[in-house]
Amino acid sequence: IRELPGDPRIGPGVREVAQAWSAVEPTAVAAPRLLAHSAEMAGALGLTAEDVASDRFARVFAGNDLLPGMQPYAANYGGHQFGHWAGQLGDGRAITLGETVNAAGQRWELQLKGAGPTPYSRSADGRAVLRSSVREFLCSEAMHHLGVPTTRALSLVGTGEAVVRDMFYDGRPAPEPGAIVCRVAPSFLRFGNFELPAARGDFELLRRLADFCIARDHPQLRGEGEGEALYGAWFAEVCERTAVMIGHWMRVGFVHGVMNTDNMSILGLTIDYGPYGWIDNYAPDWTPNTTDRQHRRYRFGQQPAVAYWNLGRLAAALSPLFDGVERLQDGLQRYIDTYTAADRENTARKLGLAECRDDDVELMQALQDLMRVAEVDMTLMFRALLAFEPGGVSGAEDALGPQSNTFTDAFDSAFYDAGKRDASAAAFDEWLARYARRLRDNPLAPAGRRERMRLANPRYVLRNYLAQQAIDRATAGEPEAVMELLDVMRRPYDDQPGRERFAARRPDWARTRAGCSM
Ligand code: AMP
Ligand code: MG
Ligand code: MG
Repeated sequence: IRELPGDPRIGPGVREVAQAWSAVEPTAVAAPRLLAHSAEMAGALGLTAEDVASDRFARVFAGNDLLPGMQPYAANYGGHQFGHWAGQLGDGRAITLGETVNAAGQRWELQLKGAGPTPYSRSADGRAVLRSSVREFLCSEAMHHLGVPTTRALSLVGTGEAVVRDMFYDGRPAPEPGAIVCRVAPSFLRFGNFELPAARGDFELLRRLADFCIARDHPQLRGEGEGEALYGAWFAEVCERTAVMIGHWMRVGFVHGVMNTDNMSILGLTIDYGPYGWIDNYAPDWTPNTTDRQHRRYRFGQQPAVAYWNLGRLAAALSPLFDGVERLQDGLQRYIDTYTAADRENTARKLGLAECRDDDVELMQALQDLMRVAEVDMTLMFRALLAFEPGGVSGAEDALGPQSNTFTDAFDSAFYDAGKRDASAAAFDEWLARYARRLRDNPLAPAGRRERMRLANPRYVLRNYLAQQAIDRATAGEPEAVMELLDVMRRPYDDQPGRERFAARRPDWARTRAGCSM
């Protein structure tokens, strides 16, 4: 690899906006080694398999070398963390190499995470451990394949250096292998990039950043006039995209875990994969973040409300660009309308209904209540529901067991607790009868209904224990485990014969294990 193909000029990105960033060079590491990569992302950047396999690829994406045109920098931003203004934060361990436009005209920023200290690292080291890097790498790509708006990951490179995090065994710090992910997105701008200049009263910088974001990332807004009309259309767009993203999170059972405003993408992409987790047994109060176990601010069921709160902070930051509040209020209303529509769409698709009627909202709520109380696996439940026929259960799906008319037989593998399963059996049968009645009034033929459900209800999600198993093997010197798991996550909606174990419910040993802190 000599240079990035496509547009060989690597653009400056937010470097165009003075004072919004600091130039910084990645710090070279001892022994770069490519552990995993995303073939799709490499392809999108125009990189060949040969490019990826080259020594230089590992060096560049370890921060030991730069390709022509790369001008690395760290962006400056602030944020509200756990409900409080935290002041300046900035890219403490992320360094953007530049942006490139590929043959299809798509713009991609390339950013190393864990490539050493930046002016925003404060006392921290700017490094990342293999554990958190594997999690970010895998989840970025898994979310992409699930159809969830997300930042992407190109590469996972081992540094050959140890990193000490706050993990103590016997009171001693335990060094862990270090790694660097190259993440990729059209923009890494966060709500916090706008909040910081607003908090400092630097409205000139705020305006330049907004103009930059609109001009570069929202060419479709060009017809929206200028000034307040344009800023209002842009804010509404941010609100809409955020609502769409949250709708997907709720559909697939993703819990971000740290929805601070510095972790909210201005493009409505899932960003900053830290202590995220996936819902196993349906639990709206669950959070994977061990530092949030008391207030559970970022619990699964609260994500739609938190996103709205975060958009409120963004609205406040952008208010100097507006004379009145109406346009900002309209934007926030756009969030509510879009999320409400996404939630109803999720209900219709997950239950295989042509449309979501008002009664169906209650039907879904009743199912969720049952799943919560009886501790039913969300992913397995909806996949099993796919095979349900009024008056019988189709045997077409594997792993469903014998045909049966009763809920608990067909759905057995979705339960975590036999006692709770038995205690709720009658209630589930009642719900199924209600669902069967509703299906009689559904215009979709069974095959069409099943296909609609299949595409909304993944069979494979990046369950916490699966990621942990890949991490354990990668730590033991088997990085292939990461590529293997990524390969399963490539087709999350397909039944993949021979790979049933990746769809299995969480094993008992993994029950109390949290996601992980960073
Ligand atoms: P996060 O909670 O991961 O979003 O991080 C909050 C802030 O801490 C951001 O400004 C990060 O860049 C910074 N940060 C987190 N970990 C490190 C690290 N190991 N070195 C430097 N900065 C870090
Ligand atoms: Mg962050
Ligand atoms: Mg982070």
